[in-house]
Amino acid sequence: MPQLPAVGGLKDKNKIKEHMKITFLGTGTSQGIPVIGCRSDVCSSDDPRDQRLRSSILVEWDNYAYVIDCGPDFRRQMLDAKVTNINGILFTHYHADHTAGLDDIRPFSHKNGSVQFYAKNDVIENLKERFAYIFATENRYIGAPNVVLNEITNKPFSLKNINVIPIEVLHGTLKIFGYRFNDFTYITDAKNITAKEMGKLQNLKVVVVNALRIDSHPTHFNLQQSLDFIEEIKPERAFLTHISHKLGFHDEVSKILPENVFLSFDGLTVEM
Ligand SMILES: [Zn+2]
Ligand SMILES: [Zn+2]
Repeated sequence: MPQLPAVGGLKDKNKIKEHMKITFLGTGTSQGIPVIGCRSDVCSSDDPRDQRLRSSILVEWDNYAYVIDCGPDFRRQMLDAKVTNINGILFTHYHADHTAGLDDIRPFSHKNGSVQFYAKNDVIENLKERFAYIFATENRYIGAPNVVLNEITNKPFSLKNINVIPIEVLHGTLKIFGYRFNDFTYITDAKNITAKEMGKLQNLKVVVVNALRIDSHPTHFNLQQSLDFIEEIKPERAFLTHISHKLGFHDEVSKILPENVFLSFDGLTVEM
């Protein structure tokens, strides 16, 4: 067979380097959907898109893979997405729905010797308190995972060959982080974002942002607030996450959204 001519050269190489893939590992609020014992219509739905594990996302580019948050569904999420290795975990904040899966990082710790964590100081202090055995330096249990703590502040930091920009958002009164990777930004559990931080969200291809339910909530955007936020920053596409059973059926809510806004669902992948 004749050899096909090579195409693209440098231009294609750059394209591969910029290519980023995100996988929604979980898109539910803190109790997930269905809620244990709940008989609401959404919790009883047969549509698999109405079943949501706790919010988390996998970000991949080149040969790298990072997970944002490590909630109680982490093990299931790694198995469902067939993740065999990760380069590290970034934390948005310390609430249990974003951190309670920590013990299940053990397969990655055993494989690589340790797992890199990226988090700000209050998250690190909280994890040390709640998972003291992981951070113990004396009388360590042999099976405990090893972690390497990378404390971050509200300044860009590098992950392999890209710069990640933290976006500070208010989750009620708690200051937490979203993260911008090139043209992609992930924000969860936001209720307010200052004008200064909004300034970091220009020219995005994809933004993921939380939209809890229709009614307002003291610590999370409701649907209208998420749509207002999206309207202000004008990304090419937006995906809603951290969804409660009170938002409504995936299928019905999807139909009322602006044309560049989508409800995410567990297992959804987006490439850019
Ligand atoms: Zn949450
Ligand atoms: Zn939270």
